[in-house]
Amino acid sequence: MMKLALLPALAALFSAFPAMAEEIGECRFDRDTLSFAGSPLEQAGCLLRKVKLLGEKEAQPLPPVIRTLLEGETAPTATMKEAALAAFPQPYQDYARQYADAAISQTEAGLPARYFVIHDTSDPFYKDAPFPKRLDTDLRVNSFTSYMDGTFAKSPVAHIFLNRVGQIWAGHEFQEGWRATKLESRVVGSAARGRFVHVETVQPRRFLPGATSRGYTQGPKPGFSKAQYRMLAALYVYSSARAGQWLIPGFHATVDAGIPDAHDDPQNFELKAFARELERLVKQPKG
Ligand SMILES: [Zn+2]
Repeated sequence: MMKLALLPALAALFSAFPAMAEEIGECRFDRDTLSFAGSPLEQAGCLLRKVKLLGEKEAQPLPPVIRTLLEGETAPTATMKEAALAAFPQPYQDYARQYADAAISQTEAGLPARYFVIHDTSDPFYKDAPFPKRLDTDLRVNSFTSYMDGTFAKSPVAHIFLNRVGQIWAGHEFQEGWRATKLESRVVGSAARGRFVHVETVQPRRFLPGATSRGYTQGPKPGFSKAQYRMLAALYVYSSARAGQWLIPGFHATVDAGIPDAHDDPQNFELKAFARELERLVKQPKG
């Protein structure tokens, strides 16, 4: 009797999750190829869906510049790489120049980094208090100290921390394989380490009206400063140049979409604003 009762239950379980063993999450990450499903354009389409309140995702068109770069399956030129380096503020610019010719991370199986993941720090957390009036120059909001000294997490949670002034602190050099999503740390594990580079972009959070749980928070609007979009674009060009091909950009929330307790960052990210800054860096001189 036991056996008879158990078999249909097992069969139902397997038929309900036919692709479970091979593909993870909404963008269908494959454990063997360590890639999401589809062409680079299709992957970007899934990974750059707009992340809305409480982590809801909404499809949005890929900006033409991103389409062009990913369709070409090329790499940034030396001119583009130099434009990105020149855009960086000091002291990060000197640091980035020091490593400019070194390859970035790869996985233990030797697959090169392929994904550029954008986060928001969701920190500082203001609970029920209002956000400071001048977020882009507020000293507490834009301080890197909590990310550096172990307050935020034991080790720096990402390769890069980018504040609203446009200042950059490298928590880990891009050569170091580092994980910052549930997909990498909880689901695939160490095999995925090195496949993703991570940028934490400073944006505070506060509770939604009436909320008492960290699962119900909101970010400011607009979400990011112009300097942050400019530096995100420069970091994207720079890390892609070191990777030897245009990385596929994505968001933390879309990388982890479909995994329980997935984060909802970045909030209020304007893909068009990122694309405008990217265009400035990759446009070829006329003539
Ligand atoms: Zn994140």
